[in-house]
Amino acid sequence: MKRYQLRIAGQWVDPAGGAWFESQNPFTGEAWAEIPRCDARDVDRAVQAAHAALTGGPWAEMTASQRGLLLHRLGDLVARDARKLAATEVRDNGKLIAEMQGQLNYVPHWYYYFGGLADKIEGAALPLDKKGYFAFTRKEPVGVVAAITPWNSPLLLAAWKLAPALAAGCTVVLKPSEFTSASTLEFVELFDEAGFPPGVVNVVTGLGKDVGSPLVEHPLVRKVSFTGSDATGRMINEQAARQFKHASMELGGKSPNIVFDDADLEQAVFGAVSGIFAATGQTCIAGSRLLVQDGIHDEVVERLVALAKTARMGDPMSMETQVGPVTTPPQYRKILDYIEVAKNDGAKLLLGGGPATRPECGKGWFVEPTIFGEVKNDMRIAQEEVFGPVLSIIRFRDEADAIRIANDVRFGLAAAVWTRDIGRAIRMSEKLQAGTVWVNTYRAVSYMAPFGGYKDSGLGRENGQEAIREYLQNKTVWINSG
Ligand code: ADP
Repeated sequence: MKRYQLRIAGQWVDPAGGAWFESQNPFTGEAWAEIPRCDARDVDRAVQAAHAALTGGPWAEMTASQRGLLLHRLGDLVARDARKLAATEVRDNGKLIAEMQGQLNYVPHWYYYFGGLADKIEGAALPLDKKGYFAFTRKEPVGVVAAITPWNSPLLLAAWKLAPALAAGCTVVLKPSEFTSASTLEFVELFDEAGFPPGVVNVVTGLGKDVGSPLVEHPLVRKVSFTGSDATGRMINEQAARQFKHASMELGGKSPNIVFDDADLEQAVFGAVSGIFAATGQTCIAGSRLLVQDGIHDEVVERLVALAKTARMGDPMSMETQVGPVTTPPQYRKILDYIEVAKNDGAKLLLGGGPATRPECGKGWFVEPTIFGEVKNDMRIAQEEVFGPVLSIIRFRDEADAIRIANDVRFGLAAAVWTRDIGRAIRMSEKLQAGTVWVNTYRAVSYMAPFGGYKDSGLGRENGQEAIREYLQNKTVWINSG
């Protein structure tokens, strides 16, 4: 079994406590790697290294253009190693190899885009109402960043944080999920190859409470950037707030996918299926509530069930597979529990509804693609994030009804509208309480387009030009010009 080490201050080191834990493959259920089990001592070492790199030495001295160049080189190296890194991720999270390769091929663009932005960070000369003074603003890195990532897309979501943080001149301690740490530990080596000075990016691994919590609490950390569940995000945000730390939170969702009578139904049904079943429903943007207008309700349901039935389950390493296993045993149990809750609450089971026992699923943690009809929006299955392949279908009458149902949830990450009426698309996009609204598409995301949540789905924005501001602080300089 492969035993990994930590990367701190440009060195491979063992965890202070000399302990490792096993990472399992969700398809075979077997352990395949040993990951360092860190504690607060390792966190302190990593944060001290990041702080030293921030406050002195080559990184602190570097021009913004030089930082941008390093980010470009890093992007090239990720592109070179994309296949290898994708395979490591699939071994850990069981997502489809085709999807992970696509993701890893796209990741370099985050480093190119933010590398390009690095030397376009500008302050301003200020107009003043005082004679004899001149004032200007400078944008400075916010400080040491704690970046905490989840298991569903480890290196993509790390890029969303690292690329703008490094472009801004920050240094980083990165903590991947305990379920999927291997790809991050392989990736971090590329920083040396690209020429980043030691200590600019450090990785610690282990459990949230042993490692994540001391990292958030460490007094030298000035910014926390988190992607994960809303329960953990709430806790971390409270911890960060006690020390007035900056925080970006990208949390859960219960995104409505709204199909109107006038939609292109084939497109909408395809969007609904990929919206919920891609990545086995384990994405924050999963379209887990399908709102269907009365007039086409029965037809959509019929087409949807027919399409979802054809989904090929099996080995995530096969290019043929369409639905893979669930990433972790606790997640597997949680999804099955939610399915029972929905049945007991009176939702009508239309497809699936339990563990997948098809021969091609082997010993993996598989859940059948599941569809519930006649769901009421106040049922738990419509209000809580399942993070699995479970779709709830809810009927609506008209635009006002759709808006009321769509917004009647504490999350607000994303929403989609399927219609041929441009006026309706605009009205809906204005009224939906969500950080992203898609019209006649689902799941589109880019390094160029800001992404983040309304309501309980989070704070701050990742991607696009706004993202870099999350890693900067403003300084005003006054000069007495006599
Ligand atoms: P999920 O994996 O379901 O999104 P979490 O939100 O708990 O679940 O995990 C996201 C990330 O947050 C992981 O890297 C995890 O280790 C980390 N984490 C969990 N608990 C804490 C905590 N108390 N403090 C800091 N990080 C945590």
